[in-house]
Amino acid sequence: CGIVGYIGRRDDVAPLLLEGLQRLEYRGYDSAGIAIHGKSGSKSTGLKSVKAKGRVRDLEARVPARFKGSVGIAHTRWATHGAPNDENAHPHLDADSKVAVVHNGIFDNASDLRARLTADGVVFLSETDTEVLAHLIGRSEADTLEGKVREAVGQIEGTYGVAVLHADFPDRIVVARNGSPVVLGIGEKEMFVASDVAALVSHTRQVVTLDDGEMATLKADDFRTYTTEGSRTSATPTTVEYEA
Ligand code: GLU
Repeated sequence: CGIVGYIGRRDDVAPLLLEGLQRLEYRGYDSAGIAIHGKSGSKSTGLKSVKAKGRVRDLEARVPARFKGSVGIAHTRWATHGAPNDENAHPHLDADSKVAVVHNGIFDNASDLRARLTADGVVFLSETDTEVLAHLIGRSEADTLEGKVREAVGQIEGTYGVAVLHADFPDRIVVARNGSPVVLGIGEKEMFVASDVAALVSHTRQVVTLDDGEMATLKADDFRTYTTEGSRTSATPTTVEYEA
């Protein structure tokens, strides 16, 4: 239903992401969650995630005091596959908890992919269609995060806006779009992503809207867009007019 992400100079990303989710509440949702690249001083503490059935404030109540980081993604879910509960809330992780995925939309071939992954020994922790993507990315042997996501979404049929974190690539967020909106927000030494400009406009008015079949890599001071086949696409930010 709703996606918000941030990478940049701030070191306490959770309140910012929760605020972004609150700006998407008008769309309706049944659960919410957040994942960050944890950091203590300058030391990385790996991926951390929290999720909760219910309101964004129920999620907020579960975020521990020590949940600091400069990179994160968050989600409000409107269940299509699996009941609204804590386990089915996004983000979904792979088996090694190295990959975190948030997803808007529906994967039409999720049950085929799930059956194949289960036959390969993967244990699923949720009933969602989304979780297959976390496992596909986690199991990809591509060298780059972009390559892993490209390979994984190449196996998926259906609609998606997705945002991905990977513990081995803490300097970036990779996003992809097919039939579900993804908007990049371009800031000063910070980048935002959301499914709706409403979650961005209090931070920046410079936006890039992805097309279907497009992906993007966000780093703190840089972004690039490309097709799911890997060729670069032009992305000149436009200024969005918005009545806050
Ligand atoms: N199909 C996914 C699920 O049921 C995502 C739903 C959404 O867009 O929030 O978890």
